[in-house]
Amino acid sequence: MNDKTIIARNRSNPAAFGHAVVIGSGIAGLTAARVLADYFARVTIIERDSQLDAPQFRRGVPQAHHAHSLPVRGQQLLEKQFPGLTAELISQGAEAVHGGSEMAFFVAGEYHQLRQQGGLITLSSSRPLLESAIYRRVAAQPRIRILSEHGVEELLVDRSRRRVTGVRLRRRGGWPAQEATLAADLVLDASGRDSQAPQWLADLGYTPPQETVVNAFTGYSSRLYRRPANFGESWKTLYVRPTPTHSTRGGVILPIEGDRWHVTLHGMAGDHPPTSEAGFLDFARSLAASQFYEALCAAEPLTEPRGYRRTENRTRHYERLPRYLEGLLVCGDAAFTLNPVHAMGMTAAVLGSLALDKTLQAYGAAPNLAGLAGAFQQRLSRTMAELWKLTTDQDRRWPQVEVIEPWEQARRERRQLAAKITQEAAKRRDRTPSSSGLNVAFT
Ligand SMILES: Cc1cc2nc3c(=O)[nH]c(=O)nc-3n(C[C@H](O)[C@H](O)[C@H](O)COP(=O)(O)OP(=O)(O)OC[C@H]3O[C@@H](n4cnc5c(N)ncnc54)[C@H](O)[C@@H]3O)c2cc1C
Repeated sequence: MNDKTIIARNRSNPAAFGHAVVIGSGIAGLTAARVLADYFARVTIIERDSQLDAPQFRRGVPQAHHAHSLPVRGQQLLEKQFPGLTAELISQGAEAVHGGSEMAFFVAGEYHQLRQQGGLITLSSSRPLLESAIYRRVAAQPRIRILSEHGVEELLVDRSRRRVTGVRLRRRGGWPAQEATLAADLVLDASGRDSQAPQWLADLGYTPPQETVVNAFTGYSSRLYRRPANFGESWKTLYVRPTPTHSTRGGVILPIEGDRWHVTLHGMAGDHPPTSEAGFLDFARSLAASQFYEALCAAEPLTEPRGYRRTENRTRHYERLPRYLEGLLVCGDAAFTLNPVHAMGMTAAVLGSLALDKTLQAYGAAPNLAGLAGAFQQRLSRTMAELWKLTTDQDRRWPQVEVIEPWEQARRERRQLAAKITQEAAKRRDRTPSSSGLNVAFT
């Protein structure tokens, strides 16, 4: 059987693959669910948060309080997956920004124009506007159901613990807590950087993925401003890039719906922007491009500054597991988290869904989806290699960068374990009455 026959069979007969559960309705979960609906009879997205169709900030995606740029590549991929998305976003207030003339880049002490992107238009909006537009399109798919206000607590497996058979859920809020189980042939974890999948695997007796971490100690502080009505500059978006040897400090002003600016300051190598009103402005004033601070002075702040510090690049090496729990796939930030200062996370999430599509296309129909987990994680890893290299190569240029490779992590864990054992032994010794103490007590 050739690849084309397999694709035709799987896509035209989605019932062949039964029921898929997706954990999390972020960009990774939504785009993956869209792909799964081409192959599975039913797809259920489980999400802790509520009111997902409205463009508002929500608890499960705290990073949405910080400016999210979507590079042209990511935008084009999303438009291909959801035709008409760009036009819909523009009609809802997203700003079309001309790549050459309307984006000002201040890098290493001077302004640059993106000549190579001269004719391209990129979209600028809040992350909630983008995500809610994708959400509505996914929710309209007849084979997809969305269960909001439910968190996945645990994986269910068959007796031999070789295959996932579903998830245990808990309804959010409400008392007493309501628990339920949901059977599934496939569970895809897209629950973001705090994914529980490594712990779930360990609890089931599987080796959890090793990790590589590249930390440039980037910190964020962001707030919303009303855009000045008579703003006279030719740029719509202003980026000041932190650059090794020039400056640890940077910022971005993005136009978003509602005539607002999303203003984010970032500092590398631990030089983090403050979250106080005065500190925020001082940091903006210290940037190498004076236009940044001047623009803020002309605008009205709408929110208090908010900080974010967990920005390290982190790969969980699911592609190298010695043994796979069949039917469990992991994608998006749950598998690869990139330093947000490079604005690649959403593009990476969409690329993950394309890797899923390719894996399912090439996959035959082995019973119980055997072999799919390994095939997907390996393809995802190949897909992400370019973005991982791009972001971590830049971060490694900071002298303060901390790199933890899997073998160092294992060594660290062994050292921590040894220290713990020594401490506990010492505590036990202290608790044991000494022989001289006994003598004193009994005489
Ligand atoms: C400060 C900051 C700025 C960023 N800026 C940019 C940018 O400019 N451009 C860019 O492309 N990327 C940016 N990113 C990265 C981007 O936000 C992420 O890469 C992207 O959101 C990953 O999407 P995801 O779907 O994997 O995870 P998330 O968006 O984190 O979504 C995970 C979802 O899973 C849900 N969930 C979690 N656990 C459970 C559970 N047990 N049960 C049910 N639901 C659960 C959560 O509620 C959430 O909805 C930024 C990130 C940060 C931190």
